[in-house]
Amino acid sequence: MTKLFFLICLAPFCLICQNDATKNFTKKLCSPEFHGRGYVNNGDIIAADFIAETFEGIGVSNINGSYFQEFYFPVNTFPGKMLVKINNKELRPGIDYIVGASSTGGEYHLKPVFIDGSDLLSKNKIQTIFNNNQETIGNSVFVVNNTKYSADSTKKIKRLIKDLNQLVAVAEITNEKFIWSVGRKTTRFPILKVKESAIPKNTQTIDLKIDQKFIPNHMAKNVIGYIPSKRKNSKSIVFSAHYDHLGRMGSETYFPGANDNASGTAMLVHLAKYFIKNPSKYNIYFMAFAGEEAGLIGSHFMAENPVLELEKIAFVLNLDIMGSGEEGITVVNGRVHKKAYNKLLRLNKKQQYLSSIKARGEAANSDHYWFSQKGVPAFFIYTRGNNKHYHDIFDTYEELTFDSFEPISNLLIKFTKTCLK
Ligand SMILES: [Zn+2]
Repeated sequence: MTKLFFLICLAPFCLICQNDATKNFTKKLCSPEFHGRGYVNNGDIIAADFIAETFEGIGVSNINGSYFQEFYFPVNTFPGKMLVKINNKELRPGIDYIVGASSTGGEYHLKPVFIDGSDLLSKNKIQTIFNNNQETIGNSVFVVNNTKYSADSTKKIKRLIKDLNQLVAVAEITNEKFIWSVGRKTTRFPILKVKESAIPKNTQTIDLKIDQKFIPNHMAKNVIGYIPSKRKNSKSIVFSAHYDHLGRMGSETYFPGANDNASGTAMLVHLAKYFIKNPSKYNIYFMAFAGEEAGLIGSHFMAENPVLELEKIAFVLNLDIMGSGEEGITVVNGRVHKKAYNKLLRLNKKQQYLSSIKARGEAANSDHYWFSQKGVPAFFIYTRGNNKHYHDIFDTYEELTFDSFEPISNLLIKFTKTCLK
């Protein structure tokens, strides 16, 4: 250990210690005991409790004795067995296949009916295929090859696959990167995606054993903490980040959601530690939202049932995907709030925090959205970089570089100092 290290560590906001703390916190949220912060084994609730404990440990205040805001929504889950066999050979979940987030479960021994995506585009063709397979339809899975079409047709075929799935089990053959999600309903028949390399042309049987459970009223919790202004300012700044992710696809497979959004949750904690030591002229709120991946549900609930008057929010800074940043950041709503965006640019130019800051217009792609809809100025900031893992089992802690983590926090701290000037 060097002298310099000691000196840095004695500084009021020890950078090296903070970096370690940030990484440990992120790593913990991504660990198997949090179950991908979804709806199997109460992963999201375990994460909520951990975040609240962390807030409390730092000294962040709660509101009326609680850090939590509860709300309910329906969700489709896969808590147990997840087995897909082709010609009796077991496929690898998350690598060879993903089951549709809204898929029903059960045990099936199915015969494949191979069709081309283009067959779906013609009503007559698909009707004929149906008629030809009428007698065995109950034991069939329609295997739709969707690998060789233009982006537009591929999309269209995906929509038709959903329609087809109302009548029969469906497997879509794809070479696309798997992107999983959260289902809020359950289909009548199973639906899955399979990589082209995992399904041989001579496939005779497809066996499924999927343990699925629909939860009609899952209780989720936003976690909220705040640090009062040092000047008794009535205006507030909200930092937000969703902590939930996709959870488990069967008992053996989970989606760690490191970049999306353990990293943003870690940024909340990182900023909270700073503002406890350096109180702002604004009240600073930290909102860790649940249910984002299920459709921005937690932030919607907050916007409809706010814990502070929305008129008193000077700015919402929503942080989602904070784990890379080699290529800089993008600011959603940067084109909407031009003055504030230009302020970010000016601050960045002066201090050279980030290599690039890009602006986008409106988008309903994270938790800033419902605040924007209520007329509250809000940015959604995400990092750009080499890490392309997104909603897959490879979005792991090990893939994070934290390249722009510290610079972003410094930029945002500066922004809060000048925000309303
Ligand atoms: Zn996210």
